[in-house]
Amino acid sequence: MFVHQRQGSLEVICGPMFSGKSEELIRRIKRAIIAKQKVQVFKPALDDRYDASAIASHSQRKHEAIAVKDTVELARHLDPEAEVVALDEVQFMDEGLIPIIENLANRGVRVIAAGLDQDSNGEPFGIMPLLLAKAEYVTKFQAICMVCGALASRTQRLVRTGGQVMVGAAEAYEARCRHCHEVPHATGQRMLEVE
Ligand code: ADP
Ligand code: ZN
Repeated sequence: MFVHQRQGSLEVICGPMFSGKSEELIRRIKRAIIAKQKVQVFKPALDDRYDASAIASHSQRKHEAIAVKDTVELARHLDPEAEVVALDEVQFMDEGLIPIIENLANRGVRVIAAGLDQDSNGEPFGIMPLLLAKAEYVTKFQAICMVCGALASRTQRLVRTGGQVMVGAAEAYEARCRHCHEVPHATGQRMLEVE
């Protein structure tokens, strides 16, 4: 029997900071290159941790990437020959990414998107809920809670300044489990209830 394998899909890799999203993205990119596929890698220009023209994991694994300031610029850089399009830190990308991904996947491209599913308040981050809903494959990682050593699904911000978008690594954030994660507002409420 002839089975026609149609290609083109969206894979989402999500979880808190330090959960291994970038490592996993880089692993998938390297395997696609081993399979001799044409791969393009993008990241938002505002994330410049370690290297402006590469995606980097906290364990120093790296792969070159095109840094784009918005999805209009991303669309302009797309190579029509690309078979795999990998995107890191997608929580920082605008809604214009949704039709771009739909279009790529519909015409046979394997799209792999990695990013934070929750912000440091534990709320859905940017376009990530839309991507999760549209994905064929979802991988949700956990890190290790820096307080108690349990599995960590959340990102704790250690400093009070900045809005939802505040780029930083180990000095400003750490992984926490649900129990040890503290949201400033929620903590205040809990304290009020106790009083
Ligand atoms: P992400 O992209 O999800 O932020 P990375 O792939 O950049 O994650 O980094 C994962 C690596 O971070 C791990 O392999 C480990 O070496 C390191 N790491 C640092 N802190 C933690 C933590 N609290 N839990 C798990 N891994 C951690
Ligand atoms: Zn904990």
